[in-house]
Amino acid sequence: MHAVLPTAPVTAKVVQSRLCTKGKSASYVRHVCVDVSGTPLEGVWQAGQSFGVVPPGTDANGKPHKVRLYSIASPTYGEDGDGKVLSTTCKRLLAEREPQGEKDDPADHRLFVGVCSNHVCDLREGDPVAVAGPNGKRFLLPADRDAHDYLFLATGTGVAPFRGFVHELFVGPPAGSRARAAWRPTRSTVHLVMGTPYSSDLIYDEFFREVAAANPGFRYHPVVSREARPDGGKGEYVHHYVDRTLPQFESLLRSERTLIYVCGLAGMQVGIFQALAARNLHGGFLDVHADLASVPAAEWTTEQVKRRVHATRRCMLEVY
Ligand SMILES: Cc1cc2nc3c(=O)[nH]c(=O)nc-3n(C[C@H](O)[C@H](O)[C@H](O)COP(=O)(O)OP(=O)(O)OC[C@H]3O[C@@H](n4cnc5c(N)ncnc54)[C@H](O)[C@@H]3O)c2cc1C
Repeated sequence: MHAVLPTAPVTAKVVQSRLCTKGKSASYVRHVCVDVSGTPLEGVWQAGQSFGVVPPGTDANGKPHKVRLYSIASPTYGEDGDGKVLSTTCKRLLAEREPQGEKDDPADHRLFVGVCSNHVCDLREGDPVAVAGPNGKRFLLPADRDAHDYLFLATGTGVAPFRGFVHELFVGPPAGSRARAAWRPTRSTVHLVMGTPYSSDLIYDEFFREVAAANPGFRYHPVVSREARPDGGKGEYVHHYVDRTLPQFESLLRSERTLIYVCGLAGMQVGIFQALAARNLHGGFLDVHADLASVPAAEWTTEQVKRRVHATRRCMLEVY
């Protein structure tokens, strides 16, 4: 971690930028590849970590902009197989202004444009970008990948690390690259449940479908909350889907081999933790404080979950 500090970022180069949502989506998410060769970041990151981007210019107080973190969407061997090119999945923050504090004018509804996400998404191939990192030591695959099975739960750009993981577990480094010779596909079972508001917001959908079609060990479950389901049912969130289709997950959730990874919108873990606990499937994944023992999981408040329910070493959480 921290091979490059955000106070002294290094210059890397954008080598690819493309939209990675499906068709015409109202949200703009880009797959951006950054060449870090020749910097201390080269070859040192792992899939699941994030890296920092320092946008140019100064903030409203005249201070240099702070670093923002972006999940690495690449496998550990990078996009190139040699750990020189990493990628991320960046969503433009665009919204109507909303008051964030007492001093803000509630009548101001001009467009709010996030500084760093739009900087990253505006960058073109060949442009320099100031980067730091890598960051994060917990949201990683275990050393012995085949010793475990995996449930990956994502919302929105939270799918970024899972692109890297799935690539590393099933696809492998490009033919001819240094990393290819030592790589073997996993024998483990992996389920990815990816939630978005609309089907047009599904990210890397084609990639996951292709990997699932070629690998029986990988199951891909896209879940859409604001559209009717293919079977005519109502749209649903990730935890509703897992609960409604529990038979396909139950043996995975009861197995001591299984690791759960949750990545995406802050708060998404609340519904997931409640759903697991309500079915008594949380053993091994969650430590629930004795105070909550007599409270039905469906009644746990967000505050109680944050303070009283802790992920064990078999449950990895990255929410932002
Ligand atoms: C570990 C980690 C991994 C991450 N990975 C990713 C990733 O893979 N992809 C990704 O896209 N992002 C990711 N993020 C989020 C990313 O770091 C940035 O927070 C995000 O891109 C927004 O930054 P920004 O500079 O564009 O917005 P900023 O300019 O920093 O604006 C955001 C801030 O503006 C305020 N604000 C927000 N909305 C409004 C509004 N409507 N009106 C007024 N003020 C508002 C809020 O205070 C908010 O904190 C990650 C974050 C973490 C911590």
